[in-house]
Amino acid sequence: MSIVMRFAPSPTGGLHIGTARTALFNWLAARSMGGKLILRIEDTDLKRSSKSYEQSIIENLQWLSISWDAFYRQSERLDLYAGYAKKLLEKGTAYRCFCSPDRLKKLKKAQYAAGQDSKYDNRCRNLSEKEIDEKLQKGLGFAIRFKVVPDREITFNDLIRGRISLRSSLMGDFVILKSDRTPSYNFGAVVDDAQMEISHIIRGEDHISNTARQLILFKEMGYKPPYFAHLPMILGPDQTKLSKRHGATTISQFREMGYLAAGLGNYLCTLSWTPPDQDELFTLDEAAERFRLSDVSKSPAIFDKQKLDWINGNHIRRLDEQQLVSLAVPFLIKEGIIDKKDLDCGRPMDKITMAVEAYKNKIKVLSELPDLLGGLFCQEIEDYSEESMEILAQNAAGKVAHVLLSELKKRAHKSELSPQEAKQIIQDMQNRLKSDRIKGKLLYMPIRASITGKTHGPELPKIISILGPQACIKRIKQTREHVKKNGIDW
Ligand code: GLU
Repeated sequence: MSIVMRFAPSPTGGLHIGTARTALFNWLAARSMGGKLILRIEDTDLKRSSKSYEQSIIENLQWLSISWDAFYRQSERLDLYAGYAKKLLEKGTAYRCFCSPDRLKKLKKAQYAAGQDSKYDNRCRNLSEKEIDEKLQKGLGFAIRFKVVPDREITFNDLIRGRISLRSSLMGDFVILKSDRTPSYNFGAVVDDAQMEISHIIRGEDHISNTARQLILFKEMGYKPPYFAHLPMILGPDQTKLSKRHGATTISQFREMGYLAAGLGNYLCTLSWTPPDQDELFTLDEAAERFRLSDVSKSPAIFDKQKLDWINGNHIRRLDEQQLVSLAVPFLIKEGIIDKKDLDCGRPMDKITMAVEAYKNKIKVLSELPDLLGGLFCQEIEDYSEESMEILAQNAAGKVAHVLLSELKKRAHKSELSPQEAKQIIQDMQNRLKSDRIKGKLLYMPIRASITGKTHGPELPKIISILGPQACIKRIKQTREHVKKNGIDW
C-alpha cells in the first residue's frame, strides 16, 4: 500500500496551535513511513474562507518547516463534487431538499427546546416527482442530501483510540451538495480522500462524528476507506478546550512573541506524543526518525507555556552567533533599539552581536531582547531596581564606585573597550581594594548596580565593553546623584 496523508485546513482563520499540531503529526507520520503529504485547502465555505487566511496558513506551515508533495484547492474542483453528487441523486441514494434556511433554523431551535439532538427531519426525502418538478419550475433552490439508513452501526478501528462504534440513527439525512453547488465538508473530503488515494487520515477527535458520515459515503461510493487516527484535544491549564481566553492560540501570535520555529515545532510534537527515549528536546527531523502513530496518547494534552518556554530557550542556546543575531534583528528594529539605516552601514553590528550573545543563556523568547538591550544602548540608566538600591546602600559601594570611576577615567581617551580591557579594569580594581577586603560579590555587585541599576545581567566585562568608557562614566555619576537623593552618602 502506498502511504499518502493529507492536511486539509479550512482558510477561515489563521493557523491555530491545534491545527498546526495536526499538520505536524501528518508530516511526521508521512515522513516516518516514507509516504507523501498532500496539502488540501478546503475553501468551499465561500463566505467564511479567504485568500489571506490561506496565504497565512501556508506561510506559517513553511515557517515551521512542514513541507508537502502536492497541493490542491477544493474551490477549483467544484465540478468534480457536483458530478459525484449527481450520480448519487440518479442512483436514488440522495435527494433534493428544498427546505429554506429559515425552516431549518426553526427546526433546530424546536429540537433544542425539546431537549432533542439536532438533526434534519427528512422532510424532503419522500417528495413525489410531481412535487419536485413543481418546485424546480418555480425556480426554488435546493441542496442535495444523502439518505442515511437508520439503525446501522458504524464501526472502525482508530489507530490511536482503538475500536469506535457510532449509530447512524444519531444523524439525519445530511447535505452533500449545498444550494450554491459547493460540497459540504463531509462530501468534499470523501470525494477527495478517495480520488487522492489517501491511506491515513490524521485529524482532531472533534471529527469523530464526521468520520461516521464519511465511512457511510465511502461505502456507498464503492471506495475502501483509509485508516483513521483521531488526535486528542489540546486543553488549557484549566482543562477546558484551548481558546483565545487562554491567550495566544495562533502560530502567527507565537512568532510575534519571539518563539523559534524549531522551539515551537519541538513543543507541538510533545502534545500527546513522547519519543521512545523520552527525550524532550529534538529537531523535527529527529522526531520524524522516531515517530510512530501508535505512540500517540489518547488522553488530552495540556498546553503548558512554561514547558514551551523551556524548550524554546534551549533551542535559542543551540543557535550559533550568526543565526541568533539575524533572528533577533527584526525584533530590535521593531522596538527601535536599532535602526535599519545603521545596519545598512554595518555600524553597530559588533555591539549588537556582543549584547545578543551576552543574553543568549538568559532568554526564553526573542522578544525579551529589545528591553534587555535597550537598557544597554542608552547613555543613562532608566530605572534602578529595589535590589540594586540595597546594594548601593552598602558601605563598600561608594568606595567601589569611586575606584571604578578612576579606572575608567584612566582609559577615558579610548572610545571603545574590549571585554579583555574591561576584565583588566576589574582586575586592577581588585588589586586596589584588596587592603579594604573588598572582593568577590562585595566588589562585583556594586559595579553592576552602579552602571546598570540592576543586580542581574550578562557578565560584567561584556556589559562594560558594550556600554563603552564614556557611558560607564556618565552612568556612575548618575548613580551618585541618584543615591544622594535617596539619602545615601558616598
Ligand atoms: N477542513 C477540515 C478542518 O479544518 C478538515 C478536517 C479533516 O481533516 O478532514 O477541520
